[in-house]
Amino acid sequence: MKIRFLGAADGVTGSRHLVTSAGVQVLLDCGLFQGYKLHRERNWADPGPLREAEAIVISHAHLDHSGWLPALVKHGWRGPVYVSPGTRDLLKVLLLDSAHLQEEDARRANRYGFSRHEKALPLYTRADALRALSLLVAVPPGRAFRPDGALSRHTLTFTPVGHLLGACAVTLQEPGRSGRRLVFSGDVGRQHDLLMPAPQAPDAADVLLVESTYGNRDHAQEDVATRLETIVNATIGGGGSVLLPTFAVGRAQALLLVLQRLKRAGRIPAWLPIVLDSPMAQEATALYRHHAAELRVPRREALALADGVRIITTGAQSQRLTASRVPMVVLSASGMATGGRVLHHLKALLPDPRHHVVFAGFQVGGSRGARLVGGEREVKIHGEMVPVRATVSQLEGLSGHADRGELLAWMARLKRKPEQTFVVHGEPAAADALRCEIQNLLGWRVRVPQHGEEVEA
Ligand SMILES: [Zn+2]
Repeated sequence: MKIRFLGAADGVTGSRHLVTSAGVQVLLDCGLFQGYKLHRERNWADPGPLREAEAIVISHAHLDHSGWLPALVKHGWRGPVYVSPGTRDLLKVLLLDSAHLQEEDARRANRYGFSRHEKALPLYTRADALRALSLLVAVPPGRAFRPDGALSRHTLTFTPVGHLLGACAVTLQEPGRSGRRLVFSGDVGRQHDLLMPAPQAPDAADVLLVESTYGNRDHAQEDVATRLETIVNATIGGGGSVLLPTFAVGRAQALLLVLQRLKRAGRIPAWLPIVLDSPMAQEATALYRHHAAELRVPRREALALADGVRIITTGAQSQRLTASRVPMVVLSASGMATGGRVLHHLKALLPDPRHHVVFAGFQVGGSRGARLVGGEREVKIHGEMVPVRATVSQLEGLSGHADRGELLAWMARLKRKPEQTFVVHGEPAAADALRCEIQNLLGWRVRVPQHGEEVEA
């Protein structure tokens, strides 16, 4: 088997691993590059060897694992795309929203003339996303599946790994008795996530591809509820509002769960408006309710996630919200403030020291969120410099990613030691730290591949 690392090999985005196995080319994940401009520019490159993939398997719906699929389809690619049922449902929301954002960005750049290109074009359109969605084939997790077509001699198994609704590790088993077995972790979730069950043990693997987002650190034991309670009460006591830039899928639902519990327990005022200003988060919340059986929380709590929450639907309502002087808690996307409605709220709230902006997850280097969390005193939004006088902080306890210890514990549950392990999906320091731990603690043969590198495995 050969593996070509075409993304998430020198960072956490653009997950794309092209596997050649028994004469068939399979692409594991088809992710969008995000963060640094240097990385984002790769989204515009020709698909090159990705065109040759005969099938695609997507580990989970996050855009850094799935968001380039419509671009590949725009370049003419057609073939089956295997996903879990939860991932299929979330992709309907995420890919269409991503296409919408791409179209909006291009429109805005043309309107305000801040594109350096002659005429800004979207990376892909809604039509491309719809075409990509028509290629999805849902495979139930937990048992080996024999696909049709090019992969008909292989088997595929999805193993739930927490992290996000539908997220799974992928096992690709080559044909024949001596066929090798590759396990790709996707993104591994936490042992004690608020919404998702703990990751299930991975299959036995000859070759392992493991993520390393938090490969160099253990999460602080942060009591998210208490921290949010403190921030909310202090901020509204001073007449300010709390803005939670949040990933619309997964994180928004976890934050709603915490805020609902705080309200029910009387730890934050019952009158305090909780506002959900993200059409995508609203759709995702409906999907989390629909898939309540796959969650860790009791069904009635899952069904009540949005009870009493003020739902903003139109852009005009969203703009009016920002002008309001009533203290409130606003959840809005995107989570790294790279786009979406949260930008209008940031523009309005950042210059005023009464407000508090709380980022609730990992911020990719180079993103606006990373700059704000890093303490920058002004940020550029829609081509305009905005001073930062509001308090900016970050919650760590809601991370959807296993930390160093949890990743090692997950790998240690493999039924036999892999012959080769490749550490992917981490900033260089995190990937290398996890490589050392795997070598020293587990005694496995392990390395960190470079972007574009091809290995025999
Ligand atoms: Zn993910």
